Amino acid sequence: RGSTEPSLDELYEGVLKGDRSLLARAITLVESNAEQHFQKAQALLQKLLVHSSKSIRIGITGVPGAGKSTFIEAFGTYLCELGLRVAVLAIDPSSKISGGSILGDKTRMETLARNPKAFIRPSPTAGKLGGVHRKTREAMLICEAAGFDVILIETVGVGQSEVIIRDMVDFFMLLVLTGAGDELQGMKKGIMELADCLIVHKADGTNKQNAEKTRKEYNRILHFLQPATKGWGTKAYTCSSLTHEGIADIWKVIQTFETTVKSSGVFDERRKFQSREWLYSMITDTLHYHFFHHPGVKNLLPKYENEVITGDVTVATAVEKLYETFINSNQ
Ligand code: GDP
Repeated sequence: RGSTEPSLDELYEGVLKGDRSLLARAITLVESNAEQHFQKAQALLQKLLVHSSKSIRIGITGVPGAGKSTFIEAFGTYLCELGLRVAVLAIDPSSKISGGSILGDKTRMETLARNPKAFIRPSPTAGKLGGVHRKTREAMLICEAAGFDVILIETVGVGQSEVIIRDMVDFFMLLVLTGAGDELQGMKKGIMELADCLIVHKADGTNKQNAEKTRKEYNRILHFLQPATKGWGTKAYTCSSLTHEGIADIWKVIQTFETTVKSSGVFDERRKFQSREWLYSMITDTLHYHFFHHPGVKNLLPKYENEVITGDVTVATAVEKLYETFINSNQ
């Protein structure tokens, strides 16, 4: 193959065969910000769409240091030992702002990365047309066509990214650490209400007892919260990625969840809802991009911005004028 770009058919066949190097090339193609790659990427996705497998999509979040990568290493390796194929994708919200990354710079998940049943992909960087989220969704579709059984999507818990991941996954877990009661109360209710399970992590050694206490406290709080998934009670569990205690139980919880929501129809409902949400968010992103990249709009925007600030023009009028400019030269 050399350094030349693989053809559409080569990528298609490669992904279906689960060829890791072609899989990586296919994801690179959908992640590309270059205009000329867009059509080819979409053609590939279109061909792959019918092959999407029955994988379960699992989101994982937690503050930096909660042990996400250590957990994914342990949990992912466990799943591989069960004979499952595991893909790990990441969404790094910081890549949008700084071009740097919270998730990516250390060498992470080395054991899992070497496992032939696993595939690990670092976070894409943002660009136009839906940025990181579109890319991650499309990477997920490619991994599903490649036959992965479990897709793990990791993000740092810093606010907005949890909501975005929740909209992509079937099951969402939040890694937390032991802490004083006050800290638990201060934990954002909104984030707890997105989760299908809470994991009190690092429950080992001298921390084990404390973790058990924390788990009970979380369960007390969860009792009063809105569950993230209809017909499913979110609970807290303890686990250690060091001793592997509790890892197998978490997989059991996820399997019970899957059976429950599939038989109630909630699983399907959510997937449909997510596809619809994806469509609308991408329409918004696309319009946003084209509007702000329109030469006429770019040209007039500073003038209207100034007139709005000085109070010479109403916001609605400024928007209407800009919109007219956009429409008229787009016909
Ligand atoms: P991330 O920032 O959430 O990805 O966290 P890391 O996976 O990098 O872990 C942060 C620190 O916690 C590292 O020093 C890990 O060795 C440690 N750690 C992770 N999991 C466990 C665990 O289960 N038990 C203990 N005792 N330490 C852990």
